[in-house]
Amino acid sequence: MKENNIEYLKKKAKNLYQDYKTRKLSDAGDIYEYSPKYYDITQIFLDFDIFDDAPDFEFSLMKAQHLIAKLVDFNSWAELIKASDTQLEIAKIKLGCFTLDNYDPSKIEDYEFFMGEAEDNAGTVFDDETRLELAKYYIKGEGQENIPVNVLADPEPIVYEEVIAKDKTADQPVMLECIHCGERFLSNETKLIKPKGAPNTEIVEVCKHWPECDGQFWDLIPVKIMDGK
Ligand SMILES: [Zn+2]
Repeated sequence: MKENNIEYLKKKAKNLYQDYKTRKLSDAGDIYEYSPKYYDITQIFLDFDIFDDAPDFEFSLMKAQHLIAKLVDFNSWAELIKASDTQLEIAKIKLGCFTLDNYDPSKIEDYEFFMGEAEDNAGTVFDDETRLELAKYYIKGEGQENIPVNVLADPEPIVYEEVIAKDKTADQPVMLECIHCGERFLSNETKLIKPKGAPNTEIVEVCKHWPECDGQFWDLIPVKIMDGK
């Protein structure tokens, strides 16, 4: 299987090189033009900062292999062919974003961005199998039936709990107004909450009318200041 994937990628590098060989100087003589069959080579050169009009520019089958590796987010061809079978499957899907009739590398960026977000939410690094299923879904637009449910689900909402009843006898409380609900109350009547199960360092002060009002600490303004006194 792995051998097949590498053969496949070799063939694709050959295709890219064939496309390169269609190069000729434009009629005006100022740029090189291509009539590719497989890959949008002009756009690839542009997107990957390859200047085909530089005096020392040269392209070969080896360079085409190296470029193929770059397109699919590997540092080199040598690194690519050492990849696991599943990683090579992902590489093949990514490579499909550079073809002449379907050029859209932004899909790869979207996929990588989504993966980063999803991994942050799940607090884990996905294994290659999950990455492959996500690449099929995200880049190729295939069904999501093989994607583990927790990957696409929204993260669990944080549940807050009230922790400490405030000491209502505190000296010299000031009158506050919650700009969220508009109610006024004394500064020793606010509530202290934290996410359920979290350490006490995460305690935050909120509106007296929490949880009906979700006014935060910064929504509680001393009336003195509000009235400009
Ligand atoms: Zn409020």
